[in-house]
Amino acid sequence: MAKPFEKIAIVGTGILGAQIAMLSAHVGYRVKVYDPREEAFLETYDKIKSDLAAKKVTPFIPWEEWEKCKTAVQQVTNLDEAVQDAELVIEAAPENIQLKNEVFKQLGEKAPPEAILATNSSSIPVSKMENSSGRPERCLNIHFYFPLQGVNMVDIMGGTRTLPEVMEKGVDWIASIGCIPLKVNKEILGFCFNRVWRAIKREVLYMWANGFVDFRDSDRAWMVFTKMKEGPFALMDKVGLDVIYDIEMVYYNDSKDPKDKPPDALLDLVKRGELGVKSGKGFYTYPDPEFLQPSFLNPKK
Ligand code: NAD
Repeated sequence: MAKPFEKIAIVGTGILGAQIAMLSAHVGYRVKVYDPREEAFLETYDKIKSDLAAKKVTPFIPWEEWEKCKTAVQQVTNLDEAVQDAELVIEAAPENIQLKNEVFKQLGEKAPPEAILATNSSSIPVSKMENSSGRPERCLNIHFYFPLQGVNMVDIMGGTRTLPEVMEKGVDWIASIGCIPLKVNKEILGFCFNRVWRAIKREVLYMWANGFVDFRDSDRAWMVFTKMKEGPFALMDKVGLDVIYDIEMVYYNDSKDPKDKPPDALLDLVKRGELGVKSGKGFYTYPDPEFLQPSFLNPKK
């Protein structure tokens, strides 16, 4: 497939930025990365590889090729050098609106005038940063899902003044790195898929917190119906229940609809430090959660 650009810059190479750099390098883009923590890219590279290999995630880029991409990515120590000749810049800095506006301001000053500036933010629409960049017509949300090696779909959404050709180039770029572009035609919190996942979370949490259904049965139903290895509660444990609570609050603060408020029972778990996989207990107890036992889905066992 024809590539819409040659030169890409990634700003912020934590868990998401490092993977975006690798996917781009894999198909031959010249990729420069910048992170104020100079060790961030290599540190994250090693972590992703060991975590995903341990979880037996089947990567869509084989690990031998992934290793080669690592050396293809050019790490630089200042922002000017990273973006000075870039055609597409993707910001993957922490989820903080002030920080992202500061980064967009700098990108507007340092990247070539024609460069497209995109944010990988999960919850901040680019319309909240486009003015800082001084080029709102060339701004996009390009939102990846974790882990990129396992989930090859990407949301793309414009701001208030994004040009159609900028959107098209973004769509082509996503397809060129082997991902499925999910085009959002009108700005909405949660993009295309997060919104669906969010509706599932809201309903199952409501049923659990109000005593309608045991959370295990919600997971069983989901696993049988979708043939997935985990249900929504197991997935929430994996993300971290503190993170889930914060995300639900973002939706609630956006809509102000009481139905969108996460249940107090979820906040109680968070306050007790029952955060899911990372704390050893959430809805399930780890490292041997019951949903992994054969008897969970087999009434005869
Ligand atoms: P992370 O904390 O792993 O990485 C952020 C990186 O940004 C760090 O390495 C940090 O050193 C760097 N950084 C800090 N200040 C910076 C600056 N001024 N300029 C450039 N880099 C800076 O975070 P992450 O999970 O990779 O999240 C990054 C973005 O991706 C967030 O906006 C988040 O919403 C989004 N996102 C995350 C996920 C996920 O599952 N983690 C999924 C989709 C989108």
